Amino acid sequence: MTPISAQLQAVHARIDAAARAAGRDPAAVSLLAVSKTWPADSVRAAAAAGQRAFGENYVQEGCAKAAELAALGLDWHFIGPLQSNKTRPVAEAFAWVHSVDRLKIAERLSAQRPPALPPLNVCLQVNVSDEASKSGCTPAAAPALAHAIAALPRLRLRGVMCIPEPTADVVAQRRAFAALRTLYERLRQEGLPLDTLSMGMSHDLEAAVAEGATLVRVGTAIFGERN
Ligand SMILES: *Cc1c(COP(=O)(O)O)cnc(C)c1O
Repeated sequence: MTPISAQLQAVHARIDAAARAAGRDPAAVSLLAVSKTWPADSVRAAAAAGQRAFGENYVQEGCAKAAELAALGLDWHFIGPLQSNKTRPVAEAFAWVHSVDRLKIAERLSAQRPPALPPLNVCLQVNVSDEASKSGCTPAAAPALAHAIAALPRLRLRGVMCIPEPTADVVAQRRAFAALRTLYERLRQEGLPLDTLSMGMSHDLEAAVAEGATLVRVGTAIFGERN
């Protein structure tokens, strides 16, 4: 077994254990392998071990990898900060964007999504941490923004995403993830057909799964420490 396939298996075991401990079906949690900074060969190794969905943070790097590996038919998710002058390549190369946090970005992605492709799947990124973070809308702004994004013709709003302040305190991890889950449930009650709660990374995926994550974004635990 290559290290990547072994580490993928270990991450699946962590997800399964966390789901069972929470009384959830492990199959209800999908794994996004975050391949940022890793070469195409690392993605190939993960794909050979059965992984289909990959996350990238940087526009140029992600588009290049998606193009190089197009023959593999993988699902590419953009998860990094997105500037409005970089939306076009993202709208053309990715199946998902998790980091939409303002209407202007959403409008540009919708306008630039090629007609031959299915609608772009998006998540609204919400800042659920107390501290001031660079990305994510405020929880207070989220409902109006979510409804506006859901109305755009070439986007499909799938859910919400967060990147809480890193902490080893599991209670604080759970509190941040619970805040996003509460918002997710509220938006669903308001009629938005959401199915994706994108939260949890290498160091906190257990807390995220316990709070209802349907997709965890994991890099380091699969590919190793980034430089
Ligand atoms: C890098 C990154 C991840 C993965 O983080 P790890 O700690 O390596 O698992 C997940 N989500 C986002 C948005 C990231 O930028």
